[in-house]
Amino acid sequence: MTIDVPPSEMSRWRAVVRVLRSPLDCLTCALLPASCALCGSSLPLLSFAPICESCWTEIPVLSGPACSRCGDALDSPVTTLCRACRLAPPPFVRAVAYGLYQGRMRDAIHALKYGRIYPAGGTLGRMLGEAIAQLAGEAPAELFVVPVPLHRSKYAQRGFNQARLLAAEAIASLRKTQPQWRLTLAASTLMRLRATESQAGLTPRQRRLNVRGAFSVSDPSAVTMRHVLIVDDILTTGATARAAAQALLRAGAASVRVATLARARRAFGPAAAAHSAVAESMRPPVRGSTSSVSGNAIENQPSTSSFRSFMPYRQPSF
Ligand SMILES: [Zn+2]
Ligand SMILES: [Zn+2]
Repeated sequence: MTIDVPPSEMSRWRAVVRVLRSPLDCLTCALLPASCALCGSSLPLLSFAPICESCWTEIPVLSGPACSRCGDALDSPVTTLCRACRLAPPPFVRAVAYGLYQGRMRDAIHALKYGRIYPAGGTLGRMLGEAIAQLAGEAPAELFVVPVPLHRSKYAQRGFNQARLLAAEAIASLRKTQPQWRLTLAASTLMRLRATESQAGLTPRQRRLNVRGAFSVSDPSAVTMRHVLIVDDILTTGATARAAAQALLRAGAASVRVATLARARRAFGPAAAAHSAVAESMRPPVRGSTSSVSGNAIENQPSTSSFRSFMPYRQPSF
């Protein structure tokens, strides 16, 4: 038997179920503690996401001299712009990020994206909020927050857009820490027109070509003269951020800034490369992950088998 429910009624019921299920997810986590999804250690009884405190504190935060435009490491102490920004200034005003895309940061992002450990999105979203807060002094008082969209085929495969989830969590945390700042989530503003090849393993030039013309703005009048903040989980060479920013500026946006949870940074000189290799070899293996490349953020998709053992989590409506 099927019951005919009008669409408005249906969305009301969905909203009720969402409200009821959210605390249930947390309760399940609290009453049925598992081991940490990243290091395997036992979790305390009260834990909202199956990731231990020690793993959260191991997440590397960005430090050191950085390009004032894109946030990449600087190759010279006497300049404020990296070589890439000097040669071809990006269309965005500034890009900020919370941490380096390596170690526990990469593990936690993989746990969210591929392991579907949605509760991790709360802490990661707050970290993204801290990155966005770096713009508080310079960015306009009103910002349109636009998550980088997935192509519909990728969305169907993954079931949610991690950039949108992180953006929503970041805005919620910034409402508490920066209450005067008006950040509006505009999740359907940008569209991904074609399913781009994975950026992993591509050279910077190939990455630029891969995403060229991949984005379009659904309703240009919605962004005309608006100041936009593009949000994504990872920034590697910045090719995706550049392509998305160009689409928004072509549609009439007044300015575009970029915030990501993590970013890759170029390592300069043999000492930096050696340090990176040693750090990687000292890192405990990640459960369920097959990725083994550090440094300039080559994103390998891990096996999802062990992450999936932490199911079920309520799938966010993103
Ligand atoms: Zn852990
Ligand atoms: Zn730069």
